[in-house]
Amino acid sequence: MLAAYITHPDCTRHEMGPGHPECPERLGAIQDQLLIKGLLDYMLPYDAPLATDEQLCRAHSALHVRGIVDNAPSEGYHPVDPDTSMNPHTLQAARRAAGAAVQATDLVLGGKVSSAFCAVRPPGHHAEHDAAMGFCFFNNVAVGIRHALDVHGLQRVALIDFDVHHGNGSENIFKDDDRVLMCSIYERGLYPFPEETGHTTTMVNVGLPTRSGGKEFREAVTRHWIPALDEFKPELIYISAGFDAHREDDMGNLALVEADYEWVTQQLVAVAQRHCQGRVISCLEGGYVLSPLARSATAHVKVLIGAD
Ligand SMILES: [Zn+2]
Repeated sequence: MLAAYITHPDCTRHEMGPGHPECPERLGAIQDQLLIKGLLDYMLPYDAPLATDEQLCRAHSALHVRGIVDNAPSEGYHPVDPDTSMNPHTLQAARRAAGAAVQATDLVLGGKVSSAFCAVRPPGHHAEHDAAMGFCFFNNVAVGIRHALDVHGLQRVALIDFDVHHGNGSENIFKDDDRVLMCSIYERGLYPFPEETGHTTTMVNVGLPTRSGGKEFREAVTRHWIPALDEFKPELIYISAGFDAHREDDMGNLALVEADYEWVTQQLVAVAQRHCQGRVISCLEGGYVLSPLARSATAHVKVLIGAD
């Protein structure tokens, strides 16, 4: 079955000033590499719709959504935190990014595609129920997951996060929701400086020491994620796909390479084939050096769509 490729030109109109690492060029770099490798030939392209307030409010407070809407500037920048700001296009881009996750959910659960890659920005996994932070405004994956649970009636959804930074926003939104198993691996001591609280049956967050590489990453996936996923038996798997743990990405200090992203995607697709007919939805999070970002995302998508 074909896979969906969901993006929108509005996602390149949001920018946070000259030299900011979360830049519009990230999406073009990924799309170019997918084109060069011929992977887009295997994918159905979709323009991401705008997420509605109702959809956003399944993951966020109405106050938060209203705050983002009301603070959207008509010119210049509105600062949210020292590294995060809105320009006149940010609100539209953020609605498209969350809308992509909703559309991916409808396509996969409607049987049109078995997997989807959402090439969107702003990213989402730092956005909490009630707060924008860390380049994120709405938690795209969380909006998609709540749509799967509350609208489509799924009972068990897994959220995987391999961004180098901990997905504090996703943990904040789902920590009391037993319908969601969150499994993450992140670099210890890095933004957003999470407390290590130990694992629960639905929160399996593993901090790796600085300079860990593929060996430590693969051991953590095998030892912590896979058994939890097989026990939980998800009906659908979402991935917060950040590629900033790559060794050439200076936003963090882990040392993954393309082969590690390929390997972890193979493991996740295998879990999805065991439990949920191969249904996987991946949404872009971090990854800031264009060449390794594009190469890593391509290695990931190649496995996701079954072209490996
Ligand atoms: Zn990150």
